[in-house]
Amino acid sequence: MWLFVCQCSHSGSYRASRFLMHARKLKQIPVKHSEKQGFNFLALSHRLFGDTCPLVSLSCFQTPQRIPYDEAVQQEFRPAAVGDAFGPTWWTCWFKVELSIPREWAGKEVHLLWDSDGEAMVWRDSQPVQGLTREGEKTSYILTDSLMETDPHNLNLYMEVACNGLFGAGKGTMIAPPDPDKKFTLNKVELVVFNRDVHELLVDFEILLDMAKHLGEKNQRSFQALYTANQMVNLCDVTDPSTFPAAHQLASAFFSQRNGESQHTIHAMGHCHIDSAWLWPYEESIRKCARSWVTVVRLMEKNPGFTFTCSQAQQLEWVRNWYPGLYAQIQDFARKGQFIPVGGTWVEMDGNLPNGESMVRQFLQGQRFFQEQFGKLCTEFWLPDTFGYSAQLPQLMRGCGIWRFLTQKLSWSLVNTFPHHTFFWEGIDGSSVLAHFPPGDSYGMQGFVEEMLKTVNNNKDKGRVNHSVALFGFGDGGGGPTQKMLDRMKRMKDVDGLPRVQMSTPDQFFSVLERDGSQLYTWIGELFLELHNGTYTTQAQIKKSNRECERILHDVEVLSSLALAQKSAFPYPATKLQRLWRLLLLNQFHDVLPGTCIQLVAEDAMTYYEEIRAMGTLLLKEAVQSLIGKLLPTGSETAESTVIMNTLPWERTEVISRTRPTGADTLALVKVCSMGYSVVKDSLTPPHPVRVVKQLDGSITMENGVIAAHLDSMGHVTSLHLVSSGRESVPEGSCANQFVIFDDIPLYWDAWDVMDYHLETRKPVTTLVKPLEIILPGGLRGSVRFSLQISEKSIITQEVILDAMCPYLRFLTQVEWNEAHKFLKVEFPVQARSMNATYEIQFGHLQRPTHWNTSWDWARFEVWSHKWMDLSEHGFGVALLNDSKYGASVHGNTMSLSLLRAPKSPDTTADMGHHQFTYAVMPHLGSFQEAGVIRYAYCLNFPLHTMPADSVQCPAWSAFCVSSPAVVLETVKQAEDRPGVLVARLYESHGSTVVTWLQTCLPVKEAITCDLLEQADPTGHLPLKELGVELSFTPFQVISVLLVLG
Ligand SMILES: [Zn+2]
Repeated sequence: MWLFVCQCSHSGSYRASRFLMHARKLKQIPVKHSEKQGFNFLALSHRLFGDTCPLVSLSCFQTPQRIPYDEAVQQEFRPAAVGDAFGPTWWTCWFKVELSIPREWAGKEVHLLWDSDGEAMVWRDSQPVQGLTREGEKTSYILTDSLMETDPHNLNLYMEVACNGLFGAGKGTMIAPPDPDKKFTLNKVELVVFNRDVHELLVDFEILLDMAKHLGEKNQRSFQALYTANQMVNLCDVTDPSTFPAAHQLASAFFSQRNGESQHTIHAMGHCHIDSAWLWPYEESIRKCARSWVTVVRLMEKNPGFTFTCSQAQQLEWVRNWYPGLYAQIQDFARKGQFIPVGGTWVEMDGNLPNGESMVRQFLQGQRFFQEQFGKLCTEFWLPDTFGYSAQLPQLMRGCGIWRFLTQKLSWSLVNTFPHHTFFWEGIDGSSVLAHFPPGDSYGMQGFVEEMLKTVNNNKDKGRVNHSVALFGFGDGGGGPTQKMLDRMKRMKDVDGLPRVQMSTPDQFFSVLERDGSQLYTWIGELFLELHNGTYTTQAQIKKSNRECERILHDVEVLSSLALAQKSAFPYPATKLQRLWRLLLLNQFHDVLPGTCIQLVAEDAMTYYEEIRAMGTLLLKEAVQSLIGKLLPTGSETAESTVIMNTLPWERTEVISRTRPTGADTLALVKVCSMGYSVVKDSLTPPHPVRVVKQLDGSITMENGVIAAHLDSMGHVTSLHLVSSGRESVPEGSCANQFVIFDDIPLYWDAWDVMDYHLETRKPVTTLVKPLEIILPGGLRGSVRFSLQISEKSIITQEVILDAMCPYLRFLTQVEWNEAHKFLKVEFPVQARSMNATYEIQFGHLQRPTHWNTSWDWARFEVWSHKWMDLSEHGFGVALLNDSKYGASVHGNTMSLSLLRAPKSPDTTADMGHHQFTYAVMPHLGSFQEAGVIRYAYCLNFPLHTMPADSVQCPAWSAFCVSSPAVVLETVKQAEDRPGVLVARLYESHGSTVVTWLQTCLPVKEAITCDLLEQADPTGHLPLKELGVELSFTPFQVISVLLVLG
């Protein structure tokens, strides 16, 4: 072949021969360098811009705020010049640009060239018209394609330049904490003539050379591409533009040589992944959306076939509120089918940690927004960039009108390569969706030949599937597609030797798969990302607030619904609840709840949680007042009783703390009916009071007739057994409640990753500060306390609590945490042997191995769980419950709960300071289902509400109860937009097939099953019987019922 190359080069010039020689060595030499040796590509690219002309004037003003355009243009602008620095980080510099286009440029394409640091938005006639960012390869604003006499020649524009890059302002590396003092520079601004013919020629050459390089020497097409490029070089004189069309013609002829029918088809879709907050705050994301999407709109005007997929209802809502003019244009292109809303969720949320109801609300809020604003529901769930995917998602998608799913993040798994790109994904209940991972392993392609070839070659389902997706456009920090990307792919539409690259839509793509996809494989269970496992623990306050706010909104909805059912005049706070839900859902974004954001974002998140807490507390009060106002005391002296409200759907007997008329807090053992309230005057007497006894060696035993524990002076649980059977749960010689600390130094992604090698650095925390002492000696409650030193700067203080009749030992934990790159866990070795442990997930649970047999097993050395996990053998097991933790693992017979991390990037302050959390250990006979572990984990997370009440006789009032212990009534709320209709959502929690009665004393006149979007099932009318309504469940099935109040 080399001879052939030489022969042909003889007929050409010396330049061409040199070019070919170097091009043939492209594997070793990057294109840029070879260009200098041969054909002068550099000279050609210098011709991209022709004549230039300076601005008439440039002035600016700076502000630390992100202010609206109207306000900005009122400010005093001072003269500015190229080379000026502005900033610091997070400020905004507004430039006023006065320009005059030379009349002699008639017929030319004229651009305003703007090259500055930071991200810019061009404003013209009070409207945003173009986003500019050097990092996103957009530095010119097209003033005209061809200057006409009638075009405006004198213009005033404004540039709103954010003092942050596409990826924030990290000091040194991308994920380093932002540099607060960064300065930004305006490098160049001028008017230029743009030579479109040079641009086209450069793209021609790029594609041909990339084909020569990436198709490989065994592929004759690579030589044909090279030969064509050679011919073009021979024809083309860089100094004579009249030679360009003939060269371009040669390329076009090559690109028009078609493929055979069997060629793979790539469905290209523009995309722009915008993290709703990450290395920049939420407020900047609003502007990122505008900058990215206005650019998309400009591209759509010039490229009628260009399609763009856009997820996250929240971001569209931002643009709707802040940029109504742009939003109207977006809606217009959405009607034309070019701007395509996808995903169906409020934000692209974390796929592991939000609870079941939160995930439902992501879809409910998202789909309702898309329906209302764009006239249709999304049919595909779109989550390219989340750190794992819950095995409950297929059922939730199905319930929300979605049966297709797209992501690519599993390509990041460090250990195992996921075996498919196109497959059916089946959840824990058996629901299945069609899933696709773009085989190019990216959501931010640029339309290069290499990416398209990777898409074909990397496809794991070759043969079965001949279609795949390529998402192109700068992403993460926004940016989106460019004209050049589109120009590349236009050439690759159907070129012999390359996959067909066609602009497409998710619907076109999935429809093709659905037509020919019956032979696809099925993957059952979670899509676990073997990376970023630190995100279950990092930023503990965000995670704790998420759990707490999920509970607050649950309780507000339950009690407001009961208030509404009792009095139809009760104003159900639908609008306020929508706002609070949206704040919670926003904070579940996949860099916020996982804790991988900068400090500014963590602070914003905490502000939103605070609003949910404050407003939630107020709404709870209003509902309670409406429900039981008549019981509440008129004066403190009359409050001899306590009204206790239970928002969970089963009867509870628990020890509560209440304030007596004297002002003192006392304990009482109370029984409260299911989802309702009871008035209690006197405490019940427990069958066995709690006994706490100090031994001679300083150790303490605690016992309540159900369980008995022995703790040594360092707070270790050295024995924990069931009183009735004597069954011990702590192995001989082991210590449970053992705090351990690890070195936690990931390879790169600090806040994200905990690497497997951290396990080799395990050190028990053994420095005692205060030995175990008795705080409460027993009766209704016994408790003991101790303190341990982790290091000079960090201390743990723990109160271990045992309540009368309670089957678990509770650990109320305070930690002063001031560490760097350390990981704190607590371990419970247990006397139970099983190959698998069970972990709670959304509306259900799943098993993961306790061994490291295969790479798929050990890659799950750190996993996530919700309120509980359990390790059981036949007849006995131990559950670990928690009120705010998500990271967990069980290896062998040791259960570990991950407590705190100390990463320094991108937030140096992450997790520093005070923490309070509770976990509990519950040994049990039988299975965890039979022992009621699931219910006890709910009880730990949903404390009873207590209020002083007048001493009146009042029967207990229970609004709902469910006859089967396997079924949980999770949610009671008012139906969206349907006052007087409630939604009750239940799920089967044991993994069993059951029939149950949902009983209620509320005035229900009609009950109809509905989907998760609250659309009634046409055949879903349920007969109302004396016992309520009868419901049949399959394992882990979620059922929603509309209850029409009479
Ligand atoms: Zn992301």
